[in-house]
Amino acid sequence: MNHLDPQAIASALAKLPETLRPLSHGLDHLGVAVESVDDNLRLYRDLLGLELVYEEVVESDGVRVAVLDLGHAHLELLEPTTPDSPIASYLERRGSGLHHLALAVDDCRRALEVSAAAGLRLIDSTPRRGAGGKSIGFLHPKSTGGVLLELCQTDSSGH
Ligand code: ZN
Repeated sequence: MNHLDPQAIASALAKLPETLRPLSHGLDHLGVAVESVDDNLRLYRDLLGLELVYEEVVESDGVRVAVLDLGHAHLELLEPTTPDSPIASYLERRGSGLHHLALAVDDCRRALEVSAAAGLRLIDSTPRRGAGGKSIGFLHPKSTGGVLLELCQTDSSGH
């Protein structure tokens, strides 16, 4: 069951100062789990014409990431580099497809704290480094109605 507790969210919101709202100002990127970045670049870059912004291996997550430009957001293609990578087990369970939705936040640490206070289950209790040097944290889909949500802070300086 993918549960969402609207009452816990409402009571956390009631305690949140106006100045800290909203936590997010929109879409940062969508993540797609793939067996092969190269195969998927044939589709998204070569056929559909999306511009490849950069490619990177994030060793800590066991993923190779290709980031494409969606206009006002990015598309992340995520290919496992090790058999014990979270993306490898995702592909085994669910097959390739839409993996997560990443929302842009000003302060990832604060957004995770507020999410925890709102009863959401955190995968990352503190921010960690994601692709592109972003500060990121994931919320568990069992507490968000079935969507793996990433909170993503692009500018990790000064917060
Ligand atoms: Zn992501």
